[in-house]
Amino acid sequence: MTDSSSVPPYDEKQIRCPKLGGQVNFAYCRVEKGGQACPRAIACWTEHFDVESYFRKALSPNDFESCFSRPPQPKLVTLVELIERAQRIAAKAAISPLGKHTEPPAIPPEDEA
Ligand code: SF4
Repeated sequence: MTDSSSVPPYDEKQIRCPKLGGQVNFAYCRVEKGGQACPRAIACWTEHFDVESYFRKALSPNDFESCFSRPPQPKLVTLVELIERAQRIAAKAAISPLGKHTEPPAIPPEDEA
């Protein structure tokens, strides 16, 4: 049953998190992103209570916009970014067989034609 109140259900209500794949409560979703609400919180909780009204009361207009105005990135984009970040870290940490950091190989000059 949908509750139209803007009072959050907190711990007594749990939903399945599409990002984590497990059960979470609203107390977690309110601070999921480093103390800021998860950008998906409105989409995830709107069928359970008036979550948008809750956040509009709880946050300043600027904070509300910064939290919810950007659409969440698709999983594929996130995965590609994680792979690219890992590649950059691995490239920086490249260690030679002697245990010393190495420079990337020089690019040979193009043939003069
Ligand atoms: S709001 Fe975010 S953390 Fe909470 S269930 Fe949805 S995706 Fe998961």
